[in-house]
Amino acid sequence: LIQLAIPLNFIGFVYREIRQGLTDIEQMFALLEVEEEVQDRPGAPDLVVTDGAIVFRDVHFAYDPARPILKGVSFEVPAGRTVAVVGPSGAGKSTLSRLLYRFYDVQQGTITVDGQDVRDVTQKSLRSAIGMVPQDTVLFNDTIAYNIRYGRPGASDADVAAAAEAAQIGSFIRHLPEGFSAMVGERGLKLSGGEKQRVAIARTILKSPPILILDEATSALDTRTEQEIQAALDVVSRNRTTLVIAHRLSTVVSADEIIVLKDGMIAERGTHGELLQREDGLYASMWNRQREAVQAEERLQAVRESD
Ligand code: ADP
Ligand code: MG
Repeated sequence: LIQLAIPLNFIGFVYREIRQGLTDIEQMFALLEVEEEVQDRPGAPDLVVTDGAIVFRDVHFAYDPARPILKGVSFEVPAGRTVAVVGPSGAGKSTLSRLLYRFYDVQQGTITVDGQDVRDVTQKSLRSAIGMVPQDTVLFNDTIAYNIRYGRPGASDADVAAAAEAAQIGSFIRHLPEGFSAMVGERGLKLSGGEKQRVAIARTILKSPPILILDEATSALDTRTEQEIQAALDVVSRNRTTLVIAHRLSTVVSADEIIVLKDGMIAERGTHGELLQREDGLYASMWNRQREAVQAEERLQAVRESD
């Protein structure tokens, strides 16, 4: 206990850091009995997911009261559909996902899942209904198998392997000398951002939740890695309600609705085609800029491959 008491401040710091990555840290709380910022209401019932429809209604939020981050955001993710949120860095996109997962509570407005306010149900039931693939996946210092199985602890080896295949990371793992028993993390294998993300996708495929939150990595991925990750995401988001914080053109194009968030407000919304028609719009200019970058990268790759 004495040993534990000393680093509690430090653990608080780590917790805040990890929370930004939206890692599942329930286990850590259980071990340390640290009090969470958000509490269940006494006698709160479990969330009952019927269709998995999500509604954000007039959501206001600030981490620091002096600096509002979300200023009245309203949108819906209908059951089984995909809504993409795009916009400049710092606009509040990841904050939307943190509020849905209830790492924080809204200060005004509501977020509901199938009509139930996320503040009224147990966090455990809410979080078990949501699969989260965060921007920066933090893996456990354990085997690859452990890291994937974390999505569904009772899963068989065959299920773990199948999830890895679906997440486009199976072949990579099979070619490791120790395969699924390879250790990852500080003292083990160093995985790239794209590989870690695919491990997180495999974990989510195994968890098989009705609702998905994908916070795509901002770091520029090469075209091939992007295609592999996209294929993995297509598998996991099929027939699930999906809120995606999108950086990739491919995700955005096929989304049922695109929300353009700027300074904590919805600046534009519509399908890819509708938004592109507003030639002087924010989305159209973001799209054109990204497309030029992708084309330049493809030309570079073609040159490399011809050498
Ligand atoms: P995005 O994902 O659109 O880039 P975020 O939702 O992560 O933006 O963050 C929105 C704003 O909130 C940013 O200015 C960010 O610096 C700030 N922010 C994020 N997390 C915290 C926090 N824990 N405490 C204070 N400010 C934060
Ligand atoms: Mg973000």
